[in-house]
Amino acid sequence: MGDSSPNFSLLHRICKLVVLLCFLHISVTVVFYVRSLDIRFAFVQNQQSHRASPVQVRVPVTKEAETGPEAAGEEGTQPGKSLEKCPETSPLLVGALRVEFGSAVSLEQIKKENPEVQMGGRYKPKDCQALQKVAIIIPFRKRDEHLKYWLYYLLPILKRQQLDYGVYIINQDGDEVFNRAKLLNVGYTEALKEYDYDCFVFSDVDLIPMDDRNIYRCFSQPRHLSVSMDKFGFRLPYNQYFGGVSSMSKEQYLKINGFPNNYWGWGGEDDDIYNRLAFRGMTISRPSGEVGKCRMIRHDRDKQNDPNPQRFDRIAHTRDTMNKDGINSLTYKVVSLEKLELYTKITVDVGKP
Ligand code: BGC
Repeated sequence: MGDSSPNFSLLHRICKLVVLLCFLHISVTVVFYVRSLDIRFAFVQNQQSHRASPVQVRVPVTKEAETGPEAAGEEGTQPGKSLEKCPETSPLLVGALRVEFGSAVSLEQIKKENPEVQMGGRYKPKDCQALQKVAIIIPFRKRDEHLKYWLYYLLPILKRQQLDYGVYIINQDGDEVFNRAKLLNVGYTEALKEYDYDCFVFSDVDLIPMDDRNIYRCFSQPRHLSVSMDKFGFRLPYNQYFGGVSSMSKEQYLKINGFPNNYWGWGGEDDDIYNRLAFRGMTISRPSGEVGKCRMIRHDRDKQNDPNPQRFDRIAHTRDTMNKDGINSLTYKVVSLEKLELYTKITVDVGKP
């Protein structure tokens, strides 16, 4: 018995040490576990706030601060309710789109698929304040079938782009020679009578974008949007090409005195506009060839829109003519102004050559 007592006390001490070590181990494990929980929680919170707000700066804007006819009290929004600005990049975009013109579309169908579009072709997002107020100006004459395709494809795209927009069809009255650039000047002037637009998209009626990342808005330089047309093998026909679809802020448009009024018939007016921009020291902003892809609806040349034989001479003199001929010399007569369900149609007498 006398021999076993010191052994027992040694065993006792070893046991105490093991228990102490176990306790220490458990304590350290608990501390690390709690700290890792904290980090995981913070990470999840961060992820959620990123998903909810892709924009860094969110400025609350009250509806009263807005200008324009539909600023307050519109259906679905409460007067005085604060709306945050829409994100710089809309989360609704889907990218490349299939565009084809095989089967006909009807206005009833388009209306049904775009119930939120207001009379006269006006729309703005309900959940956020659009970054730009965009007037879309389309020069027009007897192209109702094309217009239906344009509305069918564009209205959903513009909605996904979260724009505050209005669609203006500027219809040239009568059967005189067509004047695309003058109709665009009329569209600019008439749209501004209605709402405080800060951006203008000028689009041919037969051009449909194939990617909704090609945003129909304005940029720090005038924008050419139809950069990759199927008609030209999905490339620019020449570097200075500015035809089809383009956009300009009010400021950029005024800096070049708007567009020329004296290009009657097909061609040259877009080259004149390009010259104006270049002479005022501006450059052209463009989306990539991939994002800028678009389809043109095939058609025969319109009557009274033959190539303008004077266009080469006129383009050569833009520098001399641009200050006298433009928005400062525009004259026209409005024949009718119709607020239709999906667009505003303004029929106008622009005179003749
Ligand atoms: C005309 C432009 C036209 C371009 C592409 C040029 O020769 O002057 O108005 O957009 O060709 O068709």
